[in-house]
Amino acid sequence: MKVLKFGGTSVQSASMMKKVSDIISSEDAQIIVLSAMSGITNQLLAITNHLQKNEISKCLEILEKVNLAHHTVIYELLSDETHRKKAIQNIQFYIERAKQLIQQSLNKQIANELLSFGEQMSTSIFYEYQMMLGRKVYFLPALNFMRLNADKEPDMQKINVLLQNLIPNTSAGELYITQGFIALNENDEIDNLGRGGSDYSATIIGAALQADVIEIWTDIDGVHNNDPRYVENTFPLRELSYNEAAELAYFGAKILHPTCIVPAQKTKIPIFLKNTMEPMAAGTIITQNSNKQNIKAIAAKDGIIAIRIHSSRMLNAYGFLRKVFEIFEKHKTPIDLITTSEVSVSVTIDDDKQLFEILNELKDFGTVEVDRNQSIICIVGDFLAANKGIVAQILNSINEIPLRMVSYGGSDNNISLLLNCDDKIRTLKLLNSRLFTKQVDEIFKQN
Ligand code: ASP
Ligand code: MG
Repeated sequence: MKVLKFGGTSVQSASMMKKVSDIISSEDAQIIVLSAMSGITNQLLAITNHLQKNEISKCLEILEKVNLAHHTVIYELLSDETHRKKAIQNIQFYIERAKQLIQQSLNKQIANELLSFGEQMSTSIFYEYQMMLGRKVYFLPALNFMRLNADKEPDMQKINVLLQNLIPNTSAGELYITQGFIALNENDEIDNLGRGGSDYSATIIGAALQADVIEIWTDIDGVHNNDPRYVENTFPLRELSYNEAAELAYFGAKILHPTCIVPAQKTKIPIFLKNTMEPMAAGTIITQNSNKQNIKAIAAKDGIIAIRIHSSRMLNAYGFLRKVFEIFEKHKTPIDLITTSEVSVSVTIDDDKQLFEILNELKDFGTVEVDRNQSIICIVGDFLAANKGIVAQILNSINEIPLRMVSYGGSDNNISLLLNCDDKIRTLKLLNSRLFTKQVDEIFKQN
């Protein structure tokens, strides 16, 4: 059995839904996980923001756009009267429910219910389409099995039991259509796995049902060696290991939800990244081991804050770092990079919600400096210490860029650089042209 997840752009129009339908016509039993149509979750989020300011007419205006977007797809996709009517009724149900919610004052539950409608609507249209085509299709509401625990993490035990009860066995050609992103929390309220969480839904389902493969279908032909939004002549990577993919996804490769690697890695199920626009393109396969390459790929993440704590009390002391880290723990703020010297430590965070409180407590330890607007550039490859000269090669290729932090040695496959956000694009370009010369030459030859 396979799990196939299609992102927002893959279901954004009738013609894209037809492409998706062609892709899933193979013989295996398949669980189809869909995102909301492209842009819809953002619009639902905008509704919650307006609702918070009590701007009801703005909410209704956006809701009408959401309604229209879905109706357009229905009219173009569903030629059969009965299925079209059914789909319209379904969309109407969510739009009416949204109107009810908009009459109330906003709270977390209302916001989460509104945010869930994107996936509920896209799947209900796609399900009707598959029914119209006469496929052996079942609707599998995510709220019937996707459960979060008190920490808002997927409750794998509950999910396993519920899913295995819902789908005890499958046979060839069966399709199960379900929503990505949405879940019920420990209080049985509608909740979600966070933005971009549909990838995570797919790997959670894949792990629970021990799928043969989890395919993530998007609008790009796999993970690229560098960020194609900023750099020319990037190229797709054929293979990545789970660890490499996790580093790249966490440090900015927008193609994958960072946490989605975890369930697949635990159960050793391969993740295949494919392009809905070009189904025949090779894509990227993510497994336990991948081809080793000195320097494989680069990703960048913005909005990073660097904090340096300088204290002579650190000299020859033990337990100092623990006390520093406890402050971040207390304020539920993850640290990404760390570098230390004998008398100071620098850390980076990307969540500034508790920054004020954190800085206040850190001041007790010594002098604290904060740099905002930083970017992390993460370089993934095979950086075993025995593999001499690679760090020098990376740093030489960007010797005109001021670096705030360099983190090497944390793992064998990651080097991270911290620099000013304004230098990010220049750095990405320099790294691409100087570290991937051979591959870039190949691209030139082909063009
Ligand atoms: N629709 C949700 C979002 O836009 C989840 C997803 O697409 O992965 O974040
Ligand atoms: Mg996504």
